[in-house]
Amino acid sequence: MAPKVAIVGAGFGGLCMAIQLERAGIDSYTVFEKAGDLGGTWRDNSYPGAGCDIPSHLYSYSFEKYGSWTRRYPEQPEILGYLAHCADKYDVRRKIRFNSAVVSAVFDGAEWQVTTAAPTPGAEPLTESFDMVVMSVGQLNRPHLPDFPGMSDFEGTSFHSARWNHDHDLTGRRVAVIGNGSSAAQFIPRIAPQVEQLTVFQRTPNWVIPKPDATFGPLTRLAFHYVPGLQRAYREWIYRYAEATLYPALAQGWSVGLLKQRALRHLRDQVPDPALRAKLTPDYPPGCKRVVIDSTFYPALTRPNVDVVTEKPIRITPRGIETTESLHEVDTIIYATGFKTTEFVAPIRVSGRQGRDLAEQWSGGAEAYLGISVPNFPNLFLLYGPNTNLGHNSIIFMIECQVNHIMACLPYISTLGPMEVRPEAMAAWTRQIDAAMSRMVWGNGCQSWYKTAEGRVTNNWPGPTPLYRRLTALPPRRAYRPV
Ligand code: NAP
Repeated sequence: MAPKVAIVGAGFGGLCMAIQLERAGIDSYTVFEKAGDLGGTWRDNSYPGAGCDIPSHLYSYSFEKYGSWTRRYPEQPEILGYLAHCADKYDVRRKIRFNSAVVSAVFDGAEWQVTTAAPTPGAEPLTESFDMVVMSVGQLNRPHLPDFPGMSDFEGTSFHSARWNHDHDLTGRRVAVIGNGSSAAQFIPRIAPQVEQLTVFQRTPNWVIPKPDATFGPLTRLAFHYVPGLQRAYREWIYRYAEATLYPALAQGWSVGLLKQRALRHLRDQVPDPALRAKLTPDYPPGCKRVVIDSTFYPALTRPNVDVVTEKPIRITPRGIETTESLHEVDTIIYATGFKTTEFVAPIRVSGRQGRDLAEQWSGGAEAYLGISVPNFPNLFLLYGPNTNLGHNSIIFMIECQVNHIMACLPYISTLGPMEVRPEAMAAWTRQIDAAMSRMVWGNGCQSWYKTAEGRVTNNWPGPTPLYRRLTALPPRRAYRPV
């Protein structure tokens, strides 16, 4: 009999899992989604200009090609539309339980007890048993807010970029943006022409390379729809190009100089003022933090109503942001300060065999075999788990590899019951990750969301992605044991 599966999260990962179960004829699953709609990060990040800097012909499921993309790098509404299209086409929406935030998953020795928050204040939380749990909550789902003193005293409007306040009209306002990562780089060019004054607080400059965007006219779209093999070939070309050129740069190989030159040329071409250029020039190797891919960010920073401030904010006052040097009075503060990325499934409490607490087990840094399975947690699987993020290629590729691995585990679970990854398989995996990580640029002189406060890189996959595909495609039997 097919196992009963709880999937937590209805973003790219959770939907992929649900769709593959449907395609295998298994409908004994429930998708728990804390929000009222599907889409994960593509539902949450609705800031102006939100989009993906990986072309959508690759940033999409391999099994659901889509001829309707209107441009190479479509924006958030199109990506969200694609996910809705997939959910409807594969008929998985009926299995999503919306407004159901999972608060805990507890293994009772035979099954997982999955508890969701009480549906209404005062009501009891709901608990249901499952054979398997697939956590697919993303790495970038919980906004990180700085802890500047006085934040709650601010008399203007403030919000995080991933919780954009669409009711707040920015027209004619004095706006501060704290942070200059990929999110800020996308919305700053959109809001700069609208606001009176924009002050961008930059703690660390980023490496920025151009985004070669292009619209796809009706003829191109028709060709993608109807010419056999065209989408597949285009997708393959984007994938191979990223793998062949960007990955070696992150591994500090032959293309690192080219990446740096490309970014410096982009800066020179777009920022004529040498003082501003100096502020925007990073002093760490490219790729150490996520490279920003955007062609409109630098021009926005050169506008007469935009200032890049490198003074350190020390407190928020009722009227603005006080730095080490001055007070910047503003009407609106937008925190583009990223996400809490290293706690993975938090705030969900996950308790495994003999009451083992997942957060405690991960207190030295999260780790999982293939980024998917954790010793002591039988039949618990993670999508986009530890060491599976990419800085150079499509995360959807990784998610599909993970879902394929979990699907390959299903027959064993059906016949053997609960199984967990063997400690020796986990130890061998950690050794491989550590060895490969030592080559990568992420440890090199920068702080980033890829690593814990102690400096352990828990988020990124340090190898080429074809290797990840091969490892996740190995028959799972030898790495797991029944419990
Ligand atoms: P982020 O890259 O983590 O950037 C956060 C920014 O806030 C950084 O500039 C950081 O400065 C600054 N910051 C954080 N705390 C601060 C503090 N206390 N004081 C001053 N500055 C502070 O976050 P993000 O821009 O939201 O992007 C997160 C990730 O989402 C990206 O790296 C990317 O993987 C993904 N993303 C992807 C796309 C896409 O097109 N594919 C688009 C948007 C986001 P420091 O650099 O000094 O830490």
